Amino acid sequence: MAPSGSRNIKRNCQRVLYWIPVLFIWLIVAWSYYAYVVQLCIATVENMAEKIVYLLAYHVLFIMFVWAYWQTIFTKPLNPLKEFHLSHSDKELLEREDRGESQQEILRRLAKDLPIYTRTTSGAIRYCDRCYVVKPDRCHHCSVCDKCILKMDHHCPWVNNCVGFSNYKFFMLFLTYSLLYCLFVTATDLQYFIQFWTNGLPDTQAKFHIMFLFFAASMFSVSLASLFAYHCWLVCKNRSTLEVFRAPAFRHGTDKNGFSLGVSKNFRQVFGDEKKYWLLPVFTSLGDGCSFPTCLMNPDPEQPASPSGNAAIKSDGETHLFPAKPLRESQSRLLSNGLSWAESEGTGNKDCQGTINPAMTMEKET
Ligand SMILES: [Zn+2]
Ligand SMILES: [Zn+2]
Repeated sequence: MAPSGSRNIKRNCQRVLYWIPVLFIWLIVAWSYYAYVVQLCIATVENMAEKIVYLLAYHVLFIMFVWAYWQTIFTKPLNPLKEFHLSHSDKELLEREDRGESQQEILRRLAKDLPIYTRTTSGAIRYCDRCYVVKPDRCHHCSVCDKCILKMDHHCPWVNNCVGFSNYKFFMLFLTYSLLYCLFVTATDLQYFIQFWTNGLPDTQAKFHIMFLFFAASMFSVSLASLFAYHCWLVCKNRSTLEVFRAPAFRHGTDKNGFSLGVSKNFRQVFGDEKKYWLLPVFTSLGDGCSFPTCLMNPDPEQPASPSGNAAIKSDGETHLFPAKPLRESQSRLLSNGLSWAESEGTGNKDCQGTINPAMTMEKET
């Protein structure tokens, strides 16, 4: 068999295997629904008022949790805009140069009109030689998806998707509702769990569902609570998981708070300005994912003052640079299903390693 054929088979097998953790979660969710609704509420709870309240509250949380989880899994991560991709002639020009400095010269020329303020730690233009793109700020190449992902946070095996600009709000709501779901099940199952150990439950199969439900819900509550607290902190600081492990580098050096605008504005960047949408898993994040407001007074003297019409806005005693003219309408991109840019094959020049986080797999930047 041709090597490329066996490579394709291997890649397809890997893609199928990546769905196993997601399938595992859906099976647990389906079982928890059966255990709670059928075995606990219908077969065990005797008080009618208690039964109705439990079922109503449970279904609200269940629907919100499943909705947010679905959105996190199936929202396509966004890739850099066309403006950041190298043209065919630039690609050839770059490949002809074998000296790093000459290549940087070409990349600097290409990046001149782009709203880019971050650099590699050595001060070079961030470039992906697998996707042939000048990386926008906060964009990273995901080794699992094999694509550059805008404002990449991490690649999450539990959703088999990259968590980034397009679905970070959904991911936050998924954590919120799954935690509330588990806490609610734990709290309402507690008295029946105690009855299980004091022989207060009738001797039916329901008692075992009630016991396992309590164990599963309480254990998930603990792990979800820590992950939820960590991501709340990230939202307040306007940092991605990758940026915690490697602070963004600007021309003056690394600055872990380079994108932080204060808690309220940081929160609104992810959840949007309209309060009525904050708790719903619909896309309301601000910006276009390619350029981000920064709290730096002079992020990069070599970049044009207004690459996309940046305007300095004074508020709360701080100066923030906002891209006044977003490069695109994020929402219209999210609504379209088509792949934005073709994937490119290429040998990697990996200059930094991925980071590992609980419940996450590795990411790497090229
Ligand atoms: Zn890439
Ligand atoms: Zn990924």
